Amino acid sequence: EPILSVAGVTKTYKSGTTALHPVDLDIRKGEIFALLGPNGAGKTTLISIICGIVTPSAGTITVAGFDAIQDYKQARSRIGLVPQELNVDMFETVLATVTFSRRLFGRSGHSAYIEQVLRDLSLWDKRHAKIMELSGGMKRRVLIAKALSHEPEILFLDEPTAGVDVALRRDMWKLVHRLREGGTTIILTTHYIEEAEEMADRVGVINKGKLLLVDDKASLMKQLGKRELDLALQEPMTAIPPDLAEWDVSLQDEGKRLRYVFDAQADHTGIPSLLRKLAELGIGFKDLETSKSSLEDIFVDLVGERA
Ligand code: ADP
Ligand code: MG
Repeated sequence: EPILSVAGVTKTYKSGTTALHPVDLDIRKGEIFALLGPNGAGKTTLISIICGIVTPSAGTITVAGFDAIQDYKQARSRIGLVPQELNVDMFETVLATVTFSRRLFGRSGHSAYIEQVLRDLSLWDKRHAKIMELSGGMKRRVLIAKALSHEPEILFLDEPTAGVDVALRRDMWKLVHRLREGGTTIILTTHYIEEAEEMADRVGVINKGKLLLVDDKASLMKQLGKRELDLALQEPMTAIPPDLAEWDVSLQDEGKRLRYVFDAQADHTGIPSLLRKLAELGIGFKDLETSKSSLEDIFVDLVGERA
């Protein structure tokens, strides 16, 4: 019985980009699985769908026996997501951020568990600091602490080591292995072959929205060959839709406040600049409250002018 099962999942964005062709994937409990693919392959889309941030065009996802759409809360509470982009309120403290996240999943705020997570990530001494005061590496650590706040069974790490310094990379891998020893299942995305080879028990190669191969590392390298794999991963990036209005935005009801969750922010132009703009204006994401359905409308709402 896999802990996570993805069956026939596809995604075509409103812009017309098909980011995923039917994807089938079973994840075993306790394994480290790497989703390996170049920029634009569909990695973030796939994990965003599994985490309930992006709605699939078709297909089903089962997390620990729960249907990820019908039993969203049950499924989601078993998942922790470390996104590529910062998704925290810069004006909040480390401890408040992690505690708030834990409470959203219906767990009590104060706990020895949170202290342990913060200590493991060398964040305990910084727990009363505002996130904006922290270095880039420390901010990344906060994302991990936040993802672990509710003791998830499956941890997703989206490009965890891209643009990260050596010390953090080392700490991250130590943490990943420690979590796995504690029974956590780990799914990470990467565009580094060496990283997938070194870190994961099994590797799935994804390119142009197709999951090409899922296998253990040895047979992956044998079947595909290093050179072919290198070539497969050197596909150019797909063009990014420049128009904010083309981006999907989904709303998630998290506790009392509605919170925007943006689709696949990372390599895309619109979202980071919007978020930066909002940060400059002192608007924390989790304070947004509106029924608007496009980024453009949200922006107009908040700023009173078009982007
Ligand atoms: P990866 O994480 O592997 O770099 P993504 O899942 O981010 O890939 O992107 C896959 C494809 O879908 C790309 O062509 C990208 O431009 C497109 N895409 C991603 N997110 C959105 C979105 N919110 N709206 C429209 N197109 C998107
Ligand atoms: Mg990505």
